[in-house]
Amino acid sequence: MLQIYIPLNFLGVIYREIKQNLTDLDKMFTLMDKEQEVADALGATDLAGLEAPTVRFEDVHFAYDPARPILRGVSFEIPAGKTVAVVGPSGAGKSTLSRLLYRFYDLQGGRITIAGQDIRAVTQQSLRRAIGIVPQDTVLFNDTVAYNIAYGRTGASQAEVEQAARAAHIHGFIAAQPRGYETTVGERGLKLSGGEKQRVAIARTLLKNPPILIFDEATSALDSANERAIQAELRQVAQGKTTLVIAHRLSTVVDAHEILVMEAGTIVERGTHAALLAAGGRYAAMWALQQNSSEVGV
Ligand code: ATP
Repeated sequence: MLQIYIPLNFLGVIYREIKQNLTDLDKMFTLMDKEQEVADALGATDLAGLEAPTVRFEDVHFAYDPARPILRGVSFEIPAGKTVAVVGPSGAGKSTLSRLLYRFYDLQGGRITIAGQDIRAVTQQSLRRAIGIVPQDTVLFNDTVAYNIAYGRTGASQAEVEQAARAAHIHGFIAAQPRGYETTVGERGLKLSGGEKQRVAIARTLLKNPPILIFDEATSALDSANERAIQAELRQVAQGKTTLVIAHRLSTVVDAHEILVMEAGTIVERGTHAALLAAGGRYAAMWALQQNSSEVGV
């Protein structure tokens, strides 16, 4: 028994190592791939006018694979300092909007502008500096929690890291660890829950303090107390910033300046929460469904 157990256990360790290395390799290739997808235009200049940038998608067409269009003529505007939320079924193209705003890919048609500048005409570095993303699933580096937060702004002091962690309500948790901010997290360190990872991402974003924010809400449900707390923190972070929220739960979008309902790559309804409820269309149906399911869930 022992003889079988030891080799299997050993294989498990090797398997985990290989898997981790592949994950790292995969990340590296993904990054390299992204670098090749887009390039700075000749004479690209730094993005300007960032005090209060307006973001516009103008008749955006996009496909990852030319045979399969994903976005088919999407137009909307996020006025300076306002929040626009996108809802719709899985696969509608919601997260694709955030990848395009960050310019992981170039468009096949239309344009995206920030403060009137086509994002293809500005340097990628200045574009990415201007945007903070709290993604669906935050990938943490196999490094200390301090490093993971400070990644938002290299050169940040320990006091600034702590201040951001406090604002993201993760300081208490970190301070309670025997090694505090020096605790290693990620695949090879302390495993954080979905909510804790999101808080690290929020702290990172707070430290970066960009004028434009993208929140790609986690699909995996957090417990409802945690979820409400994180939503409140996100709302605070978004104050005065031009914000795109990719929402999986309608409770997040109620206060948005405009809600876009996407289906199969097009916007099928748009308006405020109240206007969309009054219109009695798809959004109203989604809202009724979610109210019922949360009542059942309670
Ligand atoms: P969800 O609510 O499940 O997150 P979504 O509306 O955000 O969905 P997207 O992630 O934007 O959907 O994906 C839209 C479509 O594009 C999906 O059909 C998806 O399979 C496809 N897609 C996404 N990323 C890629 C990629 N890197 N390569 C090819 N196809 C992709």
